[in-house]
Amino acid sequence: MLYITGWCRSGSTMLGDVLAEAPGVVHVGELRFLWRNGVLGTGSNRRCGCGVTHRECPVWSKVLEEIRPAGRSLVEHAADVVAWQEAYRTRHTRRVLRDPPRNGWPATLAAAYHAIARVSGARIIVDSSKYASDAALLSTLPGIEGRYVHLVRDPRAVAWSWLRPKEYTGYRSALNSTLHWVAFNLAADAVGRAHRTDSLRIRYEALAAGPRAAVDRILTLIGHEGPNPVTADGTVELTGNHTVTGNPNRFDRGRITIGEDRRWHTALPRHQRFAATLPALPLLRRYGYERRA
Ligand SMILES: [Zn+2]
Repeated sequence: MLYITGWCRSGSTMLGDVLAEAPGVVHVGELRFLWRNGVLGTGSNRRCGCGVTHRECPVWSKVLEEIRPAGRSLVEHAADVVAWQEAYRTRHTRRVLRDPPRNGWPATLAAAYHAIARVSGARIIVDSSKYASDAALLSTLPGIEGRYVHLVRDPRAVAWSWLRPKEYTGYRSALNSTLHWVAFNLAADAVGRAHRTDSLRIRYEALAAGPRAAVDRILTLIGHEGPNPVTADGTVELTGNHTVTGNPNRFDRGRITIGEDRRWHTALPRHQRFAATLPALPLLRRYGYERRA
């Protein structure tokens, strides 16, 4: 089980899809939103990576049925799950590491992972939900062996991405993006410290510049001995997935070249650049980023 932590717009969907091209690995996207988006339909993206709705998808329809408690409808259960998740927000990460709140969420998450393993036949599940609070829970779940990748990206690149809304998520100001960037990365660091030997921190920029080497490090972390799906020149063949939400690039198929989107260097206006930099100042050096706005 590999959990990707960090803030949104950091390349986690792409990373998960690339890892899933290794034999025995499945990427489930942002599993956290299966019930909100997939069952209740209240999230921003209701389609599975295979193109149909989650309730029509051959994988998720089976998984949802398997974990639905007897006597509860899918919709009733999903409403329960969404309410339970409220005690497991990112800001609760440290508390979850110490003493997880007692409600139905941990058992539901464990049941979901076990059902995914059965339905997909995969040995390793990659969850790119980026909730450090859920990553913090993994080691307490029966039969689950957690590994953790903290994916971090320059906050100015992330802010620039949020300034251009995508179909699946709305707009955030540069300041709002970086305030979340700080909170999500600090929570991811807390999980990394709690599981030092089972975790890696990877910069998006390093992943984009040397995808084969970065994927090699992650495959070693998860104990995968098969071939690396990334070629020496940084391309990978995407054959399809069943992801719960994530960047629309999850619908891409065929051979893609992994590379860094550097447009923000020239496109991010100066005042936005300041707003995206200032709240991040205490963390920029830790992650190896330029401190000048
Ligand atoms: Zn599907």
